[in-house]
Amino acid sequence: MSEKRIYNFAAGPSTLPLEVLEQAKEELINYGGSGMSVMEMSHRSKLFLSIFEQTKSDLRRILNVPETHEILFLQGGATLQFAMTAMNLITATGKADYVLTGSFATKAYDEAKKYGDVAVAASSKDRNHSYIPAQSELNVRDDISYLYYTANNTIYGTEWKYVPQVNAPLVCDMSSDILTQPIDFEKYSVVFAGAQKNMSPAGLTVVFINKDYAGHALPYTPVMLDYAAMIKGDSMHNTPPCWCIYMLGLVLKWMDAQGGLSVIEQRKKEKAKILYDVIDASSLYKGCAEKDSRSDMNVTFVTGDPEMDKRFIAGAKEIGIENVNGHRSVGGMRASIYNAMSFEGVRALAEYMKDFEKKA
Ligand SMILES: *Cc1c(COP(=O)(O)O)cnc(C)c1O
Repeated sequence: MSEKRIYNFAAGPSTLPLEVLEQAKEELINYGGSGMSVMEMSHRSKLFLSIFEQTKSDLRRILNVPETHEILFLQGGATLQFAMTAMNLITATGKADYVLTGSFATKAYDEAKKYGDVAVAASSKDRNHSYIPAQSELNVRDDISYLYYTANNTIYGTEWKYVPQVNAPLVCDMSSDILTQPIDFEKYSVVFAGAQKNMSPAGLTVVFINKDYAGHALPYTPVMLDYAAMIKGDSMHNTPPCWCIYMLGLVLKWMDAQGGLSVIEQRKKEKAKILYDVIDASSLYKGCAEKDSRSDMNVTFVTGDPEMDKRFIAGAKEIGIENVNGHRSVGGMRASIYNAMSFEGVRALAEYMKDFEKKA
């Protein structure tokens, strides 16, 4: 069974560690001798609450989340956070600034515009989102409630290499690079991440919120979109995504077994370097992102010939290297190399890239 698994470079939902899937399979129909699956348990049961608490405390420990910040397990994906962050946080001054580094940042900006005076601090659209603006290029107003940015741009393959310095709290979408490096939470009022890139199956959104910033939602905010209500109910104002929380717990245990966040961070750099070295040494492949903005999570490249890109993708599939096609809005190739992607998978792709170039 396991030898039939592909190298899955999908951007999300994406590959999960085999050990995690095997443990989930082991426990699928009878969790811990309870005679039932985690999927069948009351979310208020002692047994589920122990899974819930353990997952939350493991996450707090691994990311060193300070007590000022609450961890929430919500639904609606990262996309719902585009509205939720604005509806809860913009009331401080009525204003917020956004850095538009790609599709998801732009969607967040479009959503926030409904709720206040929202402006663009910088945009990378002029060069097709191939770079991250420098600190000196950020045009941030004095009296904003927050500055919003997207840490890793999953579609374009760019990643912030610095934390913006501004006189306001930061709000950050970390969907595609959460759990790959330490986070200085003091700077953030909210960090959020859809789980399906690097944490768990789709259906869970993890939010880290500084509690001082909850309780100020716009008056017409639905209760499910009010951080204060979510904090009050400890993510159980209604039924939480129980199965995904359990799976996140297994992923966190797997991270511990790998040696923790620092080992994961080191590995992500090494894995990305393997692929970027091939691109840099090649006369066929061109990276889509500018060098100093390249993402360690989503490696985007093209041959310059869409027909050849198609042959590259089809040939990869024949040898078990799948989902290396670029996002439908960009084309070309994209290899997403989240935590669960092995060195073996990355090396297989690197070898294939070299072979393909030789034959091209
Ligand atoms: C995938 C992704 C999203 C969208 O996530 P959903 O959970 O599908 O709403 C938003 N932002 C980033 C950075 C992403 O990678």
